[in-house]
Amino acid sequence: MFTNRFGERTPVPQLPVGAQKIAGATHYVPGLTNSGFINGLVIDTGPDCDVYEAVAIDTLAITHGHADHFSAGAEIRRRTGARVLASRDDARLVENPEVNIRGMFSWARPGDLLVSKLFLGVPCPVDDLVEMWEDSRATPVALPGHTLGHTGYLTTDKVLFTGDALYQKEIWERHRLPYAIDPAMVADSLAQMLALDFDWLVPGHGVCCSREEAEGHIAFHLKQISQIEHFILDALATEHTTEDVIALVSEDRGLSDNPAQYWLAVTTVKGYLGTLLGKGQLEFFVREHAGWWRTPR
Ligand SMILES: [Zn+2]
Repeated sequence: MFTNRFGERTPVPQLPVGAQKIAGATHYVPGLTNSGFINGLVIDTGPDCDVYEAVAIDTLAITHGHADHFSAGAEIRRRTGARVLASRDDARLVENPEVNIRGMFSWARPGDLLVSKLFLGVPCPVDDLVEMWEDSRATPVALPGHTLGHTGYLTTDKVLFTGDALYQKEIWERHRLPYAIDPAMVADSLAQMLALDFDWLVPGHGVCCSREEAEGHIAFHLKQISQIEHFILDALATEHTTEDVIALVSEDRGLSDNPAQYWLAVTTVKGYLGTLLGKGQLEFFVREHAGWWRTPR
């Protein structure tokens, strides 16, 4: 028995439309963004609030502050009285998705053309921080790197919801440079996943998979990070400006030439450059008012 913000008890919740059982009480609603459901606890939402019609929900836990992971969050909270939880670092992004847009553009105001639709969304109030979590249905696991406060949830049925901390092989075919603010942190989070006791894994985008399959996807993701790092290090044997490195990596990864993709790539490539600079594998200097990078002489 759990209690929502209205003080109502939610005894035996009905399942969301399309929910599939994974193990025990843990279900998920497959969709553009997968959503978890465990006895009235929802993990992330897709865009459609109607799948939760007549479903008692007391808690909505959000993996991270990208709008495609809480599209129906504000509506679910309003209709059901669910408490919304997000991590300290991502709560501000959930409550004000505009912060992502400003961060992407170095806090200046970009024109609408430049903004990925992933960053546009309905703000959702956050009632509690994940850091205060007291809920026996699942345990939050910090998996930072995609965003600073990115959080996975491991249910008592040993199902791990990973949000965007893991991209499965099939997703890599369509998104060859997945957004990350800190690729080294992403790699650490992937390693951390392997240490968790889960039987099933549900990514934010993609399909529910067994532990064995998940281990293959994790190894694949780690290999992609390392390939991108090596590509950058090889390219920077010759010095290049930040703008040139973004272009070289985008070309190598087969990205299309559109403003929204470009601005996501800017953040991710800078994430790699910052990581490699921090490890002493790159040098940075300013020449003729442009920023340049190269491998150490
Ligand atoms: Zn995301």
